[in-house]
Amino acid sequence: MDDQDDWLAARVVFSQAPHGPYDYRIPAEFETRVSPGVRLTVPLGRGNRTRQAYCIDVIGPFHQLASTVNPQRLKPLSSVLDERPIMDGPLLDLAKWISQYYVCPLGNVIETVVPPGVRDGSGTREMLFLVLAEGVADQLPGLNLPPKQRAVLETLAAGGSDWTPRELAETVGCTQGPITSLRKKGLIISSTRRVRSVSHTVPREKREQNLVLNTDQQQALDSINQAVEQGEYRGFLMHGITGSGKTEVYIRAIQKVVEFGRQAIVLVPEISLTPQTRRRFRARFDQVAVLHSHLTAAQRAWHWNEISQGRVQVIIGARSAIFAPAPNLGLIVLDEEHDGSFKQDKAPRYHARDVAVRRAQQAAIPIVLGSATPALDSWHRAQTGEFELLSMPNRVLNRPLPDVATIDLRVDFGNRKSRGAISQKLRQEIRSAIHQGGQVILLLNRRGFATRIQCPGCGHVEQCPDCSIPMTHHRDGSKAVCHYCDFQIPEPQVCTECGYAAIRFAGIGTQKLEQEVKAIFPDVPCMRMDTDTMRKPGSHELALSRFREGEIKILLGTQMIAKGLDFPNVTLVGVINADTALHFPDFRASERTFGLVTQVAGRSGRGPKGGRVLVQTFSPDNPAIVAAKRHDYLGFAAGELPTREEFGYPPFGSLARIVIRSESQERVKQQSEQIADVLQQVADEQGQSILVLGPAPAPVEKLRGKYRFHILVRCDVDCQLQPIIQLATTRIQTAENVQWIVDIDPMDML
Ligand code: ADP
Ligand code: ZN
Repeated sequence: MDDQDDWLAARVVFSQAPHGPYDYRIPAEFETRVSPGVRLTVPLGRGNRTRQAYCIDVIGPFHQLASTVNPQRLKPLSSVLDERPIMDGPLLDLAKWISQYYVCPLGNVIETVVPPGVRDGSGTREMLFLVLAEGVADQLPGLNLPPKQRAVLETLAAGGSDWTPRELAETVGCTQGPITSLRKKGLIISSTRRVRSVSHTVPREKREQNLVLNTDQQQALDSINQAVEQGEYRGFLMHGITGSGKTEVYIRAIQKVVEFGRQAIVLVPEISLTPQTRRRFRARFDQVAVLHSHLTAAQRAWHWNEISQGRVQVIIGARSAIFAPAPNLGLIVLDEEHDGSFKQDKAPRYHARDVAVRRAQQAAIPIVLGSATPALDSWHRAQTGEFELLSMPNRVLNRPLPDVATIDLRVDFGNRKSRGAISQKLRQEIRSAIHQGGQVILLLNRRGFATRIQCPGCGHVEQCPDCSIPMTHHRDGSKAVCHYCDFQIPEPQVCTECGYAAIRFAGIGTQKLEQEVKAIFPDVPCMRMDTDTMRKPGSHELALSRFREGEIKILLGTQMIAKGLDFPNVTLVGVINADTALHFPDFRASERTFGLVTQVAGRSGRGPKGGRVLVQTFSPDNPAIVAAKRHDYLGFAAGELPTREEFGYPPFGSLARIVIRSESQERVKQQSEQIADVLQQVADEQGQSILVLGPAPAPVEKLRGKYRFHILVRCDVDCQLQPIIQLATTRIQTAENVQWIVDIDPMDML
């Protein structure tokens, strides 16, 4: 560093505040070892406390420093922790984009992109390896040594690089003595290296032949293949109704990609729910990595390593699999692209679909988003030409879509003899479906036994003391549970408000439904599937295989039974209450209701026997229900999009949500007002027109003991919210004991 203009610095970020970026001088001895993506330790602050940091750039005289300090006066970094970067350049670029787009510190994003097991070397251990010192091989004939020592050197000289002291001693047939002597003489040198001690191989499936594609499938495949061959970014939206054979098309497109020696990522919602999908991929490809939530940190790290070495052809996983370090990615597929689980609900609050599109653009590869009920955002992008639409409007083998009928619960309510969940009509249909050898799926998107615990004397509803949410009665364990924070109390015997002794357990959850089904059909094997019964790893797989084998006749459960299942013998699907999500204070309530009913309806009639669907509802005239009844996605979209446009909601405007929370109601209100003011100020200064809605108490006013306010910020699509919010965050003064978060493109409005 003699020359003024000859310097190198590492730009780093931290996972904790202050997040940086900051620049540190790279001392000459580290020059070859520092590159973007390696971890360093650096001195921070006045006290020069040592902190671990991520290097995100290496900069020199042609760059602008992060601060105005003279480059010669930068503090030097202290040490380099990694031999090789923990992520490659494209992944780091993706992390930078996420950080900017979702207004989240890069240090946090990196810790999401690279899983903890990979960062801390889980499933690896330090091993000592031995090699000959330089030049010893040539001197060997002339050296005067005891026979054992000579044998050791000869063995090393003969080749192989991974000799551990133990293996070497075993091969030569000696103790550690001769080896230690040789190390002392400097004839052998040792080095340590981390090696993997855990592996995670998965069973192979029986090979399956490709199916003969129908015309729609072939057309879709041709378009994707063309993009794969050209090696360029293209976004496809595959709108294929339930049972149209989307998965078969994905598989064929990926075969093409694999032929080119490249890899594919397949994102699915909640992988543990889709054992069938996994099996189908394993039956067609040799190297499939399935990244699911039950992997240990060490197993995850092992997969990460296999993937980064290019040894995996297809990576299947939920949201975070979008960060799989495939070295030569050729295609990304997002199945059920409308699914809400693709959005992460903690920082960074990224949406895997948008990250995937970004990754595909960066890598110049095609991406396929598939769904029977595409998100209206994606649909709009297909209509405006941003995505190419691939349509598969028919079921395979020309199987008809099931006939859907609604049962008006308002009418039925008066006529009902019992107060159960299952109407007379649905009961008859279940009976006849079973009688004819079919199977039945019943959807009720509310778990627990009774969804409301209410006093008939004073009307008081038992609420969670920490959340403003009614508690749900769970029969197993006789308890009342808060579904937001899991707070539990023993089932109340008397009203906690007035002491009245005949509490009513009202509203029906899956437990109560199960009880009812068993009472009506005592001889029909029935099983409940919800998060309460499916806690153990592997329980989905077991439950679904019992259903497939026909051992179980009635499968009932929450939305987890609505997704992706393909059971040809299901001839009846019953929706117990289609309205559960219809009246949520959320502009996507209709879209969700339409999607859920359509998806679960699609589980019926997949085999030669055909099938039907019965939807119980209090709102049979609601457009979402009417459209679902007709399997009419296009009609639903055409009716819903103009409403979105009228109010400037996505996809016609950009939206961000800021949620402020504190134990003090007063503080949360004040803070919210300050944040809203700052946002408006910044926008005015920049001449941007934004709409600040609120602050207002969030629909869930209190959560885990904290009061909550929220602010919605909206702007036209051609204006960007991020720079405004980013600048605002530097001006907001956060009061003590108040937290706030920014959610870009929010999905959760509660
Ligand atoms: P989707 O994902 O669109 O709901 P799937 O890909 O699961 O549909 O296909 C539904 C069923 O149809 C599966 O059992 C699949 O094996 C079968 N299938 C798909 N394509 C064909 C085809 N071309 N010929 C015959 N059967 C097919
Ligand atoms: Zn609670």
